Amino acid sequence: MNDLSIEQRQFLLSSIRDINDFPKPGIIFKDITTLLNNSEAFTLLMDHLEAKYRNYNLDYIAGIDSRGFIFGAALAIKLGIGFVPIRKKGKLPSTTICEKYELEYGFDEVEIHIDAFDSKVGARVLMIDDLCATGGTAVAASKLVIDTKAELVEVCFLMNLTFLNGKEKIEKIAPVYSVLDI
Ligand code: AMP
Repeated sequence: MNDLSIEQRQFLLSSIRDINDFPKPGIIFKDITTLLNNSEAFTLLMDHLEAKYRNYNLDYIAGIDSRGFIFGAALAIKLGIGFVPIRKKGKLPSTTICEKYELEYGFDEVEIHIDAFDSKVGARVLMIDDLCATGGTAVAASKLVIDTKAELVEVCFLMNLTFLNGKEKIEKIAPVYSVLDI
């Protein structure tokens, strides 16, 4: 794996914009659109992930709705493997399985097609999203991957908000890698 230098991590971090009080007061939203439109930053990130996961013998990348689709699809192409979307409820057209999880106020649900990994038992899957906050979304999505009888090899985030301890919840299910710990 090609480890990122401190300077490279700093460069990636500086390419992500903080938006205060979005989508509600008190939240600092990590805006990745400024990383995506910076070809040097986007390429550095994707080259790093490709080098890290090249020898994991993966069969699929699963991306979490919606920013996980961007990094997940780009990585799947680089690794020459398939991509599977894990979506918010009601968006997938065929037969799905569903997992409910708790938000600060209320609940949300994520879904996957039941045959998403071509019903291949033990398919080696890397799941990816842009950011781990409380970890609730990724825990629910991890359960979906496992329920399809695939093997969840690792969960990967661009950013982990360490003060919310979400990573520790996911680590009870699968190994977790975060490019930037914030
Ligand atoms: P959680 O389930 O609490 O770990 O939240 C993770 C999901 O919410 C991810 O899909 C993130 O894209 C999004 N999210 C949560 N907090 C933030 C934040 N501060 N900035 C950007 N996205 C966030």
